[in-house]
Amino acid sequence: MKDLRSLTLEEITEYMKTIGEKGFRAKQVYEWVSKGVSSFDDMTNLSQSLIEQLKREFRLDNFKIIQTLKSEDGTIKVLGALWDENIVESVFMTYKHGNSVCVSTQVGCKMKCTFCASTLGGVIRNLTAGEILGQIYALQNMTGERVNNVVLMGSGEPLDNYDETLKFIKLSTDEKGLNLSGRSITLSTCGLATEIRKLADERLQITLAISLHNPIEDERIQIMPITKKHNLSDLMSSVDYYIEKTGRRVTFEYALIDGVNDTERHAQALGALLKGKLVHVNLIPVNAVVENNFMPSSNNKINGFKRVLMDKYRLNTTVRRELGSDINAACGQLRNQHL
Ligand code: SF4
Repeated sequence: MKDLRSLTLEEITEYMKTIGEKGFRAKQVYEWVSKGVSSFDDMTNLSQSLIEQLKREFRLDNFKIIQTLKSEDGTIKVLGALWDENIVESVFMTYKHGNSVCVSTQVGCKMKCTFCASTLGGVIRNLTAGEILGQIYALQNMTGERVNNVVLMGSGEPLDNYDETLKFIKLSTDEKGLNLSGRSITLSTCGLATEIRKLADERLQITLAISLHNPIEDERIQIMPITKKHNLSDLMSSVDYYIEKTGRRVTFEYALIDGVNDTERHAQALGALLKGKLVHVNLIPVNAVVENNFMPSSNNKINGFKRVLMDKYRLNTTVRRELGSDINAACGQLRNQHL
């Protein structure tokens, strides 16, 4: 069965032609899909025979929420079952500037970052564009609120699922579809330099976020094995290319781990690596993960680190407010198991 939410308007139009339906039917179906309906029977302006035909060939409700957990700060984490009973997590967060959703792009992840719970079981499969979109629809339907921002930062490496991630971006920014602005989408990668260059050529207006976490190559390899394949110089040249092609500022995510990457030496190396580039640094006090011994840096260390980047290297730097850490919903804590 195909996933209806993965189809563009053009693809639905092609399909309608093959079954002898008029073109306007495609538009009607696409509008229903974009409204996030989860049952074909809700498509009230279609004929019963077309509804039955769609039911036979397509899947619609592709992310069924099976568990919900609400944090004290209002963050909602859900576990959703995919058609094959694999389970992924999504998180709904409310900020002053609107509602954000953190979506998963793969069941598990193969990148093996040592601070991340999502990779503990390896990668099981890629999500389709429609399954990534389905997480947004499910959360909009559950909360009754519109999603304004999307971060591709749940389980999975989005650029390891390049085609479906790109299709998701195109579907979600389609003005006849969900109509998100490109700028409201943040794609977070551990540093797949080849795909970053490919993405740059798309000239999208999305925000690219690099999970850097250590500016010293020998040390980054220890926590992010992707560094063996794409060393820091390769990664930085792909970032330069991305900035040149898109004109967009790139975010560098830096999870501060007590005693591991939060020293003066790291701050200086990070400053030197990014100095003069169109970038923004996001410092994140790392969340404790039971399977390893990482602990967050002290506030003193975080502030000292920030001062070096801002005062000496003139880098735009913020400390990210973590939401949902009491329900294991903050970054690096997503995992594929029941709550
Ligand atoms: S941090 Fe991202 S890329 Fe790294 S293992 Fe976790 S999900 Fe994969």
